[in-house]
Amino acid sequence: MHTTNTLIIGGGQAGLALSHCLTTLGRDHLVLERGRLAQRWRSERWDSLRLLTPNWITRLPSYTYEEPDQDGFMTAGEVVGFFENYAESFDAPVREFTVVRRLAPCGDVFVVDTDDGPFLARNVVIATGWSDQAAIPAHAARVSARVHQVDPSRYKNPDDLPAGGVLVVGASATGVQLSQELHLSGRPVTLAVGTHTRLPRSYRGMDSYWWLDLLGALDRTIDEVGDPLAARREPSLQLVGSPEGSTLDLSTLQSIGVRLTGRLQTIDGGRATFASDVNAVVADTDRRMHRVLDRVDDAIERLSLGAEMLSPDRPGRVVPVASLDSLDLHTAGINSIVWATGFRRRYDWVELPILDVRGEITQYRGVTPVPGIYVLGQRFQHYRSSNFIDGVGRDALAVAEHITATPARRELLASASTPRHH
Ligand SMILES: Cc1cc2nc3c(=O)[nH]c(=O)nc-3n(C[C@H](O)[C@H](O)[C@H](O)COP(=O)(O)OP(=O)(O)OC[C@H]3O[C@@H](n4cnc5c(N)ncnc54)[C@H](O)[C@@H]3O)c2cc1C
Repeated sequence: MHTTNTLIIGGGQAGLALSHCLTTLGRDHLVLERGRLAQRWRSERWDSLRLLTPNWITRLPSYTYEEPDQDGFMTAGEVVGFFENYAESFDAPVREFTVVRRLAPCGDVFVVDTDDGPFLARNVVIATGWSDQAAIPAHAARVSARVHQVDPSRYKNPDDLPAGGVLVVGASATGVQLSQELHLSGRPVTLAVGTHTRLPRSYRGMDSYWWLDLLGALDRTIDEVGDPLAARREPSLQLVGSPEGSTLDLSTLQSIGVRLTGRLQTIDGGRATFASDVNAVVADTDRRMHRVLDRVDDAIERLSLGAEMLSPDRPGRVVPVASLDSLDLHTAGINSIVWATGFRRRYDWVELPILDVRGEITQYRGVTPVPGIYVLGQRFQHYRSSNFIDGVGRDALAVAEHITATPARRELLASASTPRHH
């Protein structure tokens, strides 16, 4: 039987950031990872994916991106290399190829059953990822067997799909990126558009993340939002990280010939129906985008940055769409569906009273209702950036402090508070 003070389940950025904090505090711990370190960046990302956050904002406790391409966007392979180097920098105690199958109480401590035997620990941190499994609507089960279905964690490149048209469901970052790629590969794409969040890649000469950082939007805490549930469900930014720094949105997709339609409502056999409010959804999205860009303009004025910035050049309007009411996929030549409908989490291996009615872990700053059980890497765990590479370090420190009851050691996060490279 292996014993340790703290077991961290998951060797992604969250597990590693916490391992760094506990290492610095001199605390005994072990990271259990079912695959290899940063496994999801190795096996659950498509070939052309790059981070949508710029390199300069790739920061973990005491570790930042320091190569020359500060404004570039890492490929998934480069992200793996970045995390490997991070783990090596403090000799992270990661035990790879160890699948956790059960977490349960065991007297005063906890038992973690794995495919390599049981582990006992006083504290256990669940860091198995917010983007755990594709959240595919139930009606996917009723789709005709003639239509190939795939989710983004399994999709690699257009060659994975049969020839013919594709229905992409979901217009956040993943949906727009895959719509563009598939359309350019010669497969006519229909994109079902639900709620989404639009921002241009850059505005007035600076990347949108630079503005969000300057406005403090990424530092907003869950205590400051009116509706925490809605904040945690907010769609991801509709962005792409390309070497050219280009903007990708519904307007760009329209210009290359992607057909836009409303949110997918039902699908049965080969017949799909769509919501008719797509133009209202797009208009509401654009209103929210303009509110953010107004705040940027105000900040430029307040900080007297006008002379250094480009003039305001707002993104173009999406041409109003004649939404389809329904579509026969076979007649329309659509042979594939890509479900870009977000993620869910599965905690059926957790035998502890820490889940709410929706099956999510109840937590505040990573501390769950069961003393000794923590979680890390949740969306908006505390900050808007909590599940991002740049944000997880602050939460990791909070969890490490709670575990060790050690007063704040801000130097652990030195790198996360150094001035930005811009
Ligand atoms: C497509 C995509 C693009 C993204 N782009 C960006 C971006 O540009 N910038 C950014 O900052 N963030 C981005 N994110 C968000 C976030 O950075 C990633 O989701 C990141 O992988 C989260 O890290 P994590 O450590 O919380 O979880 P994960 O990386 O998911 O790590 C969890 C680990 O736990 C392991 N695990 C799970 N279950 C078990 C088990 N039972 N036993 C043992 N191990 C287990 C998994 O194998 C995995 O390695 C993106 C997310 C996605 C999905």
